[in-house]
Amino acid sequence: MSFSPLEATKLYLSKAFKVLEISPRIQKLLLTPYREIKVEVPIERDNGEIEIYMGYRVQHNNARGPMKGGIRYHPEVDGEEVSNLASLMTWKTAVVNIPFGGAKGGITCAPREMSERELEKLTRRFTERLHIVLGPDIDIPAPDVNTNAQVMAWIMDEYSKYCGYCPPVVTGKPVAVGGIEGREEATGRGVFLATKHALAANQETIENKTFLIQGFGNVGSWAAKFIHEHGGKIIAVSDAFGGLSHPQGIDIPKLIHYQNNNPNRSIVGFPEADAMEKEKLFQLSADVLIPAALGGVITKEIAQNLNVRYIIEGANGPTLPDADEILFQKEVIVVPDIYANAGGVTVSYFEWVQNIQRFAWTHQKVVQELDRIMEKAWKKIREIAARKNLDLRTAAFVLGVGRVGKTVALRGIT
Ligand code: GLU
Repeated sequence: MSFSPLEATKLYLSKAFKVLEISPRIQKLLLTPYREIKVEVPIERDNGEIEIYMGYRVQHNNARGPMKGGIRYHPEVDGEEVSNLASLMTWKTAVVNIPFGGAKGGITCAPREMSERELEKLTRRFTERLHIVLGPDIDIPAPDVNTNAQVMAWIMDEYSKYCGYCPPVVTGKPVAVGGIEGREEATGRGVFLATKHALAANQETIENKTFLIQGFGNVGSWAAKFIHEHGGKIIAVSDAFGGLSHPQGIDIPKLIHYQNNNPNRSIVGFPEADAMEKEKLFQLSADVLIPAALGGVITKEIAQNLNVRYIIEGANGPTLPDADEILFQKEVIVVPDIYANAGGVTVSYFEWVQNIQRFAWTHQKVVQELDRIMEKAWKKIREIAARKNLDLRTAAFVLGVGRVGKTVALRGIT
């Protein structure tokens, strides 16, 4: 049986509902998004042509606080994908126990084929269309696939035109416009912390373990950097253009330097590793696999042939449920996305607090607080998994859904 990512999340939720014995009334409320928005985003391209893009924002749940989640720019963005990712944000913010709900946005576009000027127009027009449903106490966007601090600065600037100077309407901003130290690295740092905790649970450490990293964007490259600094050997990486391998471990700082200076920002062509087809990454043997790109990449067929002991989900929704089943039988430890990649939204929360307090946090404080939150959530997930005899994904959903369900019930329905 094959699952769409939306069906996959529904299945994980249904398992959590069963364990928690959530009433059908509350189940209905947890499954249905609060608000789904689809807007037309027209811009004039550099060649003078008018192009219409489709933009989405799905606000899934606001029981525990303002809705929170990134905006992605990708040719495959559609309403269903955004809706699924918005739901995952609701459970993710609850797993790490930060006072937010869940949302996600996206524009169906090919950002690699657009100029900086076109991307700015696209972002401003999207913000203009959405601004009535955004706000520091309503819904707070952030970076996601193919969006970055510059895009967030445009969102902040455009929103401020309508509502007055407003840094806390968006997170992941450059430090010069109210961003926080350490946000850019935060998701990768969280993935590294999740890896550290997962290994420590089996009395293992990162040092000398071998890693495969699929995706070398913001999440994959920062996770690789921290793992490399702690003595992990990254023996293969891939990006949208191709892959690299090196049995003794790739020199990650050199690879990041190479990528930053490559006009198309790819890792392909790095001279100090062997080139390989990107699909080959899943066939290699290693201790840990970190999928850090798009969803749905670990299918049943890939899971059957995987030769790793741990999977740490840097991406959102990388593993499909039938693959999850096989990995469980193969005794591969899968650390789920709603915990493993929650470092980004956690530091987004610090940024929002910093903007509201109008008091800048230090990098040291950000790292310390992120560490504390990731450790606390990990202990909680492990404790639920042990007590109820569940895999880590189901335990994480039980934790997140339990928290949201409780708040929904207490706040009341009528
Ligand atoms: N896009 C990131 C995620 O999927 C971060 C969201 C945020 O910071 O709001 O978790």
